[in-house]
Order: sequence, then C-alpha cells, then structure tokens
Amino acid sequence: MGKVYLTGAGPGCIDLLTVKALRLVKAADVIIYDRLANPDILKEAKDGCEFVYVGKEDSNHTLPQEEINEVIYQNALKYESVVRLKGGDPFVFGRGGEEGIYLRERGIKFEFIPGITSAIAVPAYAGIPVTHRGVTVSFRVVTGHESKDKSHSQIPWENYKTDDTIVFLMGLHRLRHITKKLIEIGKPKTYPIAVISRGTTKDEKTVVGTLETIWDLAKELPTPALIVVGKVVNLREQLSWFEEQLGEEK
Ligand code: SAH
Repeated sequence: MGKVYLTGAGPGCIDLLTVKALRLVKAADVIIYDRLANPDILKEAKDGCEFVYVGKEDSNHTLPQEEINEVIYQNALKYESVVRLKGGDPFVFGRGGEEGIYLRERGIKFEFIPGITSAIAVPAYAGIPVTHRGVTVSFRVVTGHESKDKSHSQIPWENYKTDDTIVFLMGLHRLRHITKKLIEIGKPKTYPIAVISRGTTKDEKTVVGTLETIWDLAKELPTPALIVVGKVVNLREQLSWFEEQLGEEK
C-alpha cells in the first residue's frame, strides 16, 4: 500500500512550487492532477511516472469529488508514491480535507503539502498586498461560486459589512451579483475593486475599477480569475511590478 501526498501546486507560475512539492513530484509513481495545476510541473516527473487528469475545462464536467476520491484510493493500492497535485493550496477551496478523510477511512497514509494560494499570491503579483498597515487589519477569502439550484444565497453577505479586504475565488461569472450585494450591504459605489486574470503567469492581466464600473471592464477576462475588494487595491499604483516586467519582455 502506498502513501498519498495531497500537494499544493501553487498559483500558476512553476517557480512558486514549494521545494517539498518538487521533491515529491520528482519521486512520484503516479501524479493525479487538476486543471489549475500548471502542467509544466509534470515535466519534472521521473521516467515511467503515470499521469491521471481529473479536471476538465468546463467546471460542469469535472469528475465528481466522490470519483476523484476513489481514483486516488485505487492508485494508492497500486503505487508506492501517489502525488495528488492541486492548484494553489489543497485546503483553500481545494477539497483536500475530503480527500484526506476518504483515505483515512480506508487506512491509507497521507501527507498534506501546503501550497502558495492564489488568494494571496495573485494579488501580490498584481501589486496588491492583502493587508497593509494603516489600511487594513483583516482579509477574508470567500467563494464567489454558489450553486444555481439554491433558491437563496449561502453567502452571509451581512457579515462582510465591516471587512477590509475581501478576496473572491471562483467569482468572475458572478461579478455583477457580487458587486450588487456589496453595495446593498453599504459599501460605497466608488469602493475599489480589481479583477486579476491568469495571475502569476505570462498572461496575467489586471483590471481595476469601482463596484459600479468593474463589471463592464472585466466581464470578458479569461479564467481563472479572482476578485479583490478593498482600499488595498489602490496600492497597486505604487506597488505594481510583475505586469510591468511582462510589458518590458514583450
Ligand atoms: N486551492 C486554490 C483555489 C481553488 S478555487 C488556491 O489555493 O489557489 C479556484 C479559483 O482560484 C479560481 O476560480 C480563481 O478564482 C482562483 N485562481 C486560481 N489560480 C488563479 C490564477 N492563476 N489567477 C487568478 N485566479 C486564480
């Protein structure tokens, strides 16, 4: 029986993989990977390593979590070293906990390898610190995805009234709804907001606006994309660096 390494692949740029993750990828017998894990990482694997892809472009066609759990388990019965590679950090909207529980119930050993989450690293590459002295004392990371068959919102919007920085993952297709809700709970219409697409990669693009204007500016950006709301967004004027570098390279 093998061991499963529930491993964070980082936010996109391959250099943001941890040393431990890279070491495990190099030694893996099989790598079970997601859409958001940079596929270049697989080039680091040893000869003969098996690759199993468990995510598809359209989120509607992603394998159900139960099936992914079973795929991981079956591979753990077959191979000694199983790397389950997931975008960002496995515990930040990554369902890593569910996979761990499934394996524990079947007596399979595992380790968690934290990854650099897009929630912090993508804003950083766009020149937006999630906290800044004198500007924020907190930041919150929220899922922007709510399943359509729910008749009422699962997101407790009222709780976000006094939040400083709010980062929404999986929210681009709900951008208009998100900005409407934030205005409803009392955020000014002029409140700063940024949408960052394909962060930390050579395709990174950031659009900055206000709660009122952002929808029109950002609706066509490609995914993956995340949304940052709060005064920290204004710091981009002084701290933007990565997109400048990309511009110089072109
Ligand atoms: N576990 C992951 C998040 C999974 S949810 C992590 O810790 O990063 C997937 C969401 O993450 C996407 O819908 C998007 O909002 C965000 N995301 C992931 N990679 C991104 C990237 N390179 N640029 C912008 N957003 C990204």
